[in-house]
Amino acid sequence: MAEHDCPSTSNEKTEDEVPPAKKIKVIADHKKEKLEERLNYILSCTVCLDLPSSVCMQCCHGHLMCVGCYHHLLADGRLKDEQATCPSCRVDITRGSCIRNLAVEKAISELPVQCSFCSGVFSRSNITLHERCECNERVVKCRFKQLGCHWSGPAHELDRHVDSCSHSMKSPTELLQCLNSINSQQQDQAFVTAVEQHPSNPTLSAERGLTYQLLLKSKISEPLEIDILLLRAPYDDVIIEAKPCYTRFTSDITESTLEPLKTRDVNRLLGSKVINIRLFMFQHKR
Ligand SMILES: [Zn+2]
Ligand SMILES: [Zn+2]
Ligand SMILES: [Zn+2]
Ligand SMILES: [Zn+2]
Repeated sequence: MAEHDCPSTSNEKTEDEVPPAKKIKVIADHKKEKLEERLNYILSCTVCLDLPSSVCMQCCHGHLMCVGCYHHLLADGRLKDEQATCPSCRVDITRGSCIRNLAVEKAISELPVQCSFCSGVFSRSNITLHERCECNERVVKCRFKQLGCHWSGPAHELDRHVDSCSHSMKSPTELLQCLNSINSQQQDQAFVTAVEQHPSNPTLSAERGLTYQLLLKSKISEPLEIDILLLRAPYDDVIIEAKPCYTRFTSDITESTLEPLKTRDVNRLLGSKVINIRLFMFQHKR
């Protein structure tokens, strides 16, 4: 520190005192790396083998599972009309018998992870903010995208693009045309947000959306009419607009139509490994 900047004042410290500190640091880093790998393995979900990215649940014997797999097990159990069980020890998985493991959640949030844009290393608790708002390499769209500019590129090139963007110099008449076409698009294209415009490179898509569909896994002898309502998952703060959706299953029709997921947090949902959504089904009485 100050001693290195100003060698003439470093006489108080002998040369022998400095190198041991460096050695200790190297050994500590080496150990840390191994520990990280071991922790990655120890703290992984026993179902999907990934590190839980948000809530971590455990069976009553302590086997860890991410909240996505936990709900998946419960849902699978419901769909198959079977008791959900822990994949490791086969003990019953119920909402009452499983608990969160806060210590594991906190330990995971401290583990390092690489930014998918710049390859920088951050703690898991900071990576989302970094990738969404701070990373200079993250893919952003032009500020004038609403006026028709389809440019997207790394954040550090945005200012340079905006300075030369032809859409920033539109005349009032052209602006009015843009607004009119946006209005008509919004009226006609409620479902178009689900279309990937650049399937080969999803990060370049101008518009993104998620659709959902319900598949009937069991066989039915008479038609089954239900209303589906998707809402945000427990412990999740993704905002999903509540919109019930009618579906009629028959012995031939076992797939509901593709419905757009009404949310402004599509990228956030797409960014996480597991999409957690709460699903309500209201069956029509015959
Ligand atoms: Zn899992
Ligand atoms: Zn278990
Ligand atoms: Zn980054
Ligand atoms: Zn532009």
